[in-house]
Amino acid sequence: MNNVIRQDTFALSVNSFNESGFYQIRKSEREYFNNYLKQVFIVEADEPNSTDSSASPFIGVIINKLLYDSIDDGDIVTIDKFGQLRVILTRRANHNTILVTERCNNLCLFCSQPPREEKDDWLLSYGALALAAFQFDGEIGISGGEPLLYGNTFTKFLEFVSQHTPKTRLHVLTNGRALSDLEFTERVASKARSMFITFGIPLYSVKASVHDYLVGKNGAFSETVRGIINAGNSGISVEVRFIPTQKNIAELPLVVEYTSRVFSNIVQLSIMNLEATGWAKRNWKDLQCEPEDYQDVLKKAVRTAVIVGLQPRLFNFPLCHLPECVREYAVKSISDWKNYYPSECTNCQLQDICGGYFSSSRGSYHQQPRRII
Ligand code: SF4
Repeated sequence: MNNVIRQDTFALSVNSFNESGFYQIRKSEREYFNNYLKQVFIVEADEPNSTDSSASPFIGVIINKLLYDSIDDGDIVTIDKFGQLRVILTRRANHNTILVTERCNNLCLFCSQPPREEKDDWLLSYGALALAAFQFDGEIGISGGEPLLYGNTFTKFLEFVSQHTPKTRLHVLTNGRALSDLEFTERVASKARSMFITFGIPLYSVKASVHDYLVGKNGAFSETVRGIINAGNSGISVEVRFIPTQKNIAELPLVVEYTSRVFSNIVQLSIMNLEATGWAKRNWKDLQCEPEDYQDVLKKAVRTAVIVGLQPRLFNFPLCHLPECVREYAVKSISDWKNYYPSECTNCQLQDICGGYFSSSRGSYHQQPRRII
């Protein structure tokens, strides 16, 4: 994708090491320090002995100046069967997230990562190894699909992460339905107690019919609500998430009130602008609504959330689309590999603190900036 802030995919040449798998990238032999993942050495240019990995801890060598300049020693990458390398964990990113399954038991109308059906619990194993190899002392997102779908394999994943990379904080994005099983929630909570971990759980309405419609699954609302109640009561930190659409925007203040009255241990209420990717594209005309058209609802929801101590945050909104009085709650949230600022943003005095746009918002999905000068 052109002019995103950080490039994350690279085509490897046929002469390069390009076996598919998960790897840790090394720029220096001296920094070699763990065995969680196979190590690949990267150099800027072909040097004497640089392509000979037979007598070293490295499984292969990649010669690629652009990639070399784009990553740090110890970053984690995947290589697919087409020789495409993707950087999945890097200290250069503004946010790191790993995908631990592509399966899901919801079918959200705006799903950014439309689910697949194949069993892929091996992704949780590789995710755990990638986190342990990366040894990050900040937060990393865990996403899917639905990360809790594999039940006890997920709790083992938590246990491994807490033991092997105890300084890593996790933010797990889940639909929360699995947490409606109180015994499972207590098993998750028992692992969570020894880690820094938050569960982000979307609640799109206070009406079961609306939430179930948006997530494409009858009965989902009931399980998600019970899941959030169980999680909070078990001591798990929960962030409640809401995506405004034409179908639910009027209910935003009600969701705020419901969240404050029904749930416990809520650490944040996040309102997230729709991303034009995945299934959101095909449903865009029926779902997307302009922040300027729901200013009053947004102001009321944020004001209430502040009063009841829900820590409101606004994600993925260009600042100039928000009423001035709520801009202080906006977060620069878009991951740098899919974040851009259109030319109209040049010289905008808010650019330093504004999160800009998703690169997927170009073309017919784009809402023009209202540059502030
Ligand atoms: S013009 Fe661009 S930089 Fe300025 S507030 Fe709008 S989106 Fe942000």
